Amino acid sequence: MISDERLRFKLKTPTLCTTDEIEMAKELLALRKASLMPSELTAENGAKAALMGEFTEEASMPCTECFGDDECENCDGSGRILIEAPVSWTTIKSIYAKAVEHFQKSAS
Ligand SMILES: [Zn+2]
Repeated sequence: MISDERLRFKLKTPTLCTTDEIEMAKELLALRKASLMPSELTAENGAKAALMGEFTEEASMPCTECFGDDECENCDGSGRILIEAPVSWTTIKSIYAKAVEHFQKSAS
């Protein structure tokens, strides 16, 4: 198999190559770059352990202790409390799948 270095050398010396060779070198380099990422996130490829629990979403909800009381220690009188919810593994996988779909479309 032709090495990445050799492919890059071909691109740097276009006068020594045919147009077909240059196009092929570009395509091969692009394919190799793309193949560094798996097509889906799974427990088997280690993605689940690496990504689950890494992301959170911040949201606010009405205070359960009061209705906007200035004296409330729970919400400092704002009537709302901020919560952090973890992004679910299902959502992480969905986002990744959508990104893969996008780049597969733009590559073809
Ligand atoms: Zn409150």
